[in-house]
Amino acid sequence: MRHNFGAGPCILPQEVYKQAAQAVLDFKDGLSILEISHRTPQFEAVVEEATELIKELMNVPAGYSVLFLQGGASMQFAMVPMNLLSTKGFAAYSDTGVWANKAIKEAKMLGKVEVVSSSKSENYNFVPKDFVIPNDADYYHFTSNNTIYGTEVFNFPKTNVPLVCDMSSDILSRTVDVSQFDLIYAGAQKNIGPAGLTVAIVKDEILGKVDRVIPSMMDYKVHIDGKSMYNTPPVFSIYVAMFNLRWLKAKGGVAEIEKDNILKANALYREIDRNKLFKGTCAVEDRSRMNVCFVMEDSSLEKEFLRLADNAGFEGLAGHRSVGGFRASMYNALSINSVHALIELMQDFEEKNK
Ligand code: PLP
Repeated sequence: MRHNFGAGPCILPQEVYKQAAQAVLDFKDGLSILEISHRTPQFEAVVEEATELIKELMNVPAGYSVLFLQGGASMQFAMVPMNLLSTKGFAAYSDTGVWANKAIKEAKMLGKVEVVSSSKSENYNFVPKDFVIPNDADYYHFTSNNTIYGTEVFNFPKTNVPLVCDMSSDILSRTVDVSQFDLIYAGAQKNIGPAGLTVAIVKDEILGKVDRVIPSMMDYKVHIDGKSMYNTPPVFSIYVAMFNLRWLKAKGGVAEIEKDNILKANALYREIDRNKLFKGTCAVEDRSRMNVCFVMEDSSLEKEFLRLADNAGFEGLAGHRSVGGFRASMYNALSINSVHALIELMQDFEEKNK
């Protein structure tokens, strides 16, 4: 059995892959999902169901639009300031890693940015907490889960400026109160569906306030008016996402999967803390449930552990090059059995290296 601890893209339940494979061959009357028109009532029903499922699973309040976009979270890094950063104002950002930095870089191309907190000096191994968000900022942007470093924000900042969050790597893994946010976006390829799809949840009333011309494809309002079909949408990615959202609903929804995610994360962190060979890389209170980063006390053993893991069917355990060691990504589709198997492997390795 393979255990996929990879950081993505797109780790979904086997049954979803099976349904997707079938739809490539025959979605309707022998036609593939890839060849039917996206303007058919059948495909419009898919977009509608996927949109409604996100609303239901995340308990999205009235006054918000759920959008299916393209360009990944990286395009949102530019689309957010284009829609929300006025030419005379400024935006506040927290710098918690590579992705936050990329968001800051794009915003700086469009206006003024104030970086209100940063954990750069500690190689992003914690989430900064004591900082002030200026009341006159056009918005405040942060990353809820720092995929590369394995830190996650558990207490969202309270502010009276619009709150914007990159939730790419922990969306749908835990309950969040959407009404606290003005704009949430996520590249789909962790817990939503295949790469090529980006989800944005926008509070309608924050739009239309900036004094710049926004190209149509970058304008949230255009996509709201077009019901996510302003241009040809990523039909296959939306279709697969719909299956995955159905799967999540059948599992009992986000609150239920959150319980599983807590069990998985607690089990692995417990072993990292107990096992004499391994140690976690992040501040304990900020440890991500989605991306568990750890190293070995004796780094010369790391290659050997990775080789053993690879031979035993564990995928994607190597840490990101900027952190080293290991990263066990544990998205919704990863079963707790895989986590127990990894723990066993760590225990065997400890036994052999006594
Ligand atoms: N933000 C976060 C937190 C991510 O983890 C990633 C990719 O892993 C991105 C942004 C970039 O996403 P995309 O590749 O969809 O542009």
